[in-house]
Amino acid sequence: MNTQEIISMFDDYVIGNYGRLSKVITKGAGNWLWDADGNKILDMFPGWAVSGIGHCHPKVVNALKSQSEKLLHIDNTFYTQEQGMLAKMLSDRSFGGKCFFCNSGAEANEAAMKLARLYTSKEKYKFVTAENSFHGRTFATVTATAQPKYHNGFTPLLPGFRYVPFNDIEAIEDIFTDEVAAVIIEPIQGEGGINVATPEYMRRVRELCDENNALMILDEVQTGMGRTGKWFGYQHYDVEPDIVTMAKALGGGVAIGAIIAKPHVAAALVPGTHASTFGGNSLACAASIATIEAIEEENLLENAIKIGDYTHEKLNALKEEFSIIDHIRGKGLMIGIQLKANGAEIVSKCLERGLRINCTHDTVLRFMPSMTVTKDEIDQAIQILANVLEATKSL
Ligand SMILES: *Cc1c(COP(=O)(O)O)cnc(C)c1O
Repeated sequence: MNTQEIISMFDDYVIGNYGRLSKVITKGAGNWLWDADGNKILDMFPGWAVSGIGHCHPKVVNALKSQSEKLLHIDNTFYTQEQGMLAKMLSDRSFGGKCFFCNSGAEANEAAMKLARLYTSKEKYKFVTAENSFHGRTFATVTATAQPKYHNGFTPLLPGFRYVPFNDIEAIEDIFTDEVAAVIIEPIQGEGGINVATPEYMRRVRELCDENNALMILDEVQTGMGRTGKWFGYQHYDVEPDIVTMAKALGGGVAIGAIIAKPHVAAALVPGTHASTFGGNSLACAASIATIEAIEEENLLENAIKIGDYTHEKLNALKEEFSIIDHIRGKGLMIGIQLKANGAEIVSKCLERGLRINCTHDTVLRFMPSMTVTKDEIDQAIQILANVLEATKSL
């Protein structure tokens, strides 16, 4: 089928809840995509941060092949080695907590919130979240997402949520009561425009949670699995959360979500309180184990820092050339280019020239390449971006 035929099949049979680019993708390898018309695209936003070690990493593909010949799925009535091993690997790379597995970021946040309610006393029913956050699209997670545009059409939302400006210590001090079950924040807001939490803020949130017997939940669905140069974003700070949620890059391209909770907190999730049919299935866990192994064998955490620094430098140089760029921010390979104008047209012009990037919050270009990205690929990407900025400058 050609591009037009496939798109018209979508028009007829797929619900139109996504604004899609008019390209059909047929293949991905490393940091490159191919479309149905044979074009090659350099992918600096692979799978919306899912393909953290690039598309179809051979190690993940091999793990999927061999696991699929043994066992795809068995219900959580039984034990499997894959789920147990993955839990241990995640625990060893964070704070020694225990895991619950699900299939997406929203589900991980749902699990974290239910656990917080179970762990804390009954009067504690409030959740504090930050403006410009993004926590998912289910009813509880969309309520937690403190952005009016995601609430339109769905009010009344769940009760008990309170919103505060991100990185504003006074605001969160003012709103805190002993009715708060948990604070949920992202160490770096992704969808909200690559906003990095300050060390003082993280520390104060931890203190407030401790003083009020509330839990600190970090949504690391986007920051997790090495993108910032450490396994988890919180590891850049001197605080330890009670629960971390993750998904996106966790499975190297396969759907999986998880939470890690401190053991005394995790103990509240007893049989009958929460579950996920597909959660922690052998296929997804095998992919995830292979992903962690690939990150370590290929020193990809170091690469995220090294290439991240290089990209920041190159983009800062670009800023000197193009006044539309206000500043660059982020950590490791989670990079935002703050523009002084709307970035949507730049994104589509880049795609025409074979470069995929993203624009969030209207004016922030997101550069979030996989951790396998090379200097040469970054150079190519920045050259295309520079050409597009040059062309739009003269308009
Ligand atoms: C993408 C994202 C989610 C939602 O994940 P889904 O897998 O789409 O449910 C939640 N939190 C953050 C920070 C995200 O980036």
